[in-house]
Amino acid sequence: MLVLTALLSLIVLVIVFYQLFAFSEFLWVKFISPKPFYRHLYFRKQKLPRDQAYILNTQFSFYQNLKPKQKLYFEHRVSKFIKQHNFKGRSGFYINDQQIVLIASTAIMLTFGYRNYMIKSLERFIIYPDVFKSKTNKAYHKGEFNPAYKAVVFSWKDFLEGYNIDNDNFNLGIHEIVHAIHFDFLKPDNDSISAIIFEHHYKKIKKLIQTNTTYRQNLVASKYLRNYAFTNNFEFIAVLIESFFETPQELKNQFPEVYSHVKKMLNFDFNGY
Ligand SMILES: [Zn+2]
Repeated sequence: MLVLTALLSLIVLVIVFYQLFAFSEFLWVKFISPKPFYRHLYFRKQKLPRDQAYILNTQFSFYQNLKPKQKLYFEHRVSKFIKQHNFKGRSGFYINDQQIVLIASTAIMLTFGYRNYMIKSLERFIIYPDVFKSKTNKAYHKGEFNPAYKAVVFSWKDFLEGYNIDNDNFNLGIHEIVHAIHFDFLKPDNDSISAIIFEHHYKKIKKLIQTNTTYRQNLVASKYLRNYAFTNNFEFIAVLIESFFETPQELKNQFPEVYSHVKKMLNFDFNGY
């Protein structure tokens, strides 16, 4: 009986401590400093099967540049992400480990600054060999995010091109997954720490671009961001983050304020950024 009471008290104490911790972190991030208290805490870090680990090691440069400890965390997250998402080929496209690892790694790279790395509005990836006819507007697309199906759709040819040419500020994988993150984090009921951090700096970027006309004109005139960025806020953030990943130094030199906000928005303090 005594043991049971002690055990129950311990469980209650742990729950109370966790709730207090979560609430303090929420207040801290919301009102004082938009940074999580910690990023990684895993009881057992998962490893990828050998073939998938080989692809991560040889084909994903962001991972190659991480420190040894960060590599363990990254691999753990990729492994969990693969298990919780669905990958399907269309138009006769056969899915193999390369698609699975590179797509999961792109999502994990984008959320590596956060503690929560699962995006609730994203459950599946649909991959076509080349451009595909979109179900939404019947036009040919290279990629799209469909919130109703919680799906990101890619043309594999164009996904690969995004990584093969790594300094042209085009990266289809990053672009479409940013749409999913953006959509998810800006949902009114999302009060996760990651969403608060993202939104805090997103608002600062929006304010800078929308209220400072000269700054906006300089950004447009510089052609650093392709014209498509100025279609709407969603495209702006997606193109901006593509550029942040492909040419961080250029963004830092030309528009240091925007660079600094993106870096903080993604909580990115990794090699090269
Ligand atoms: Zn887009």
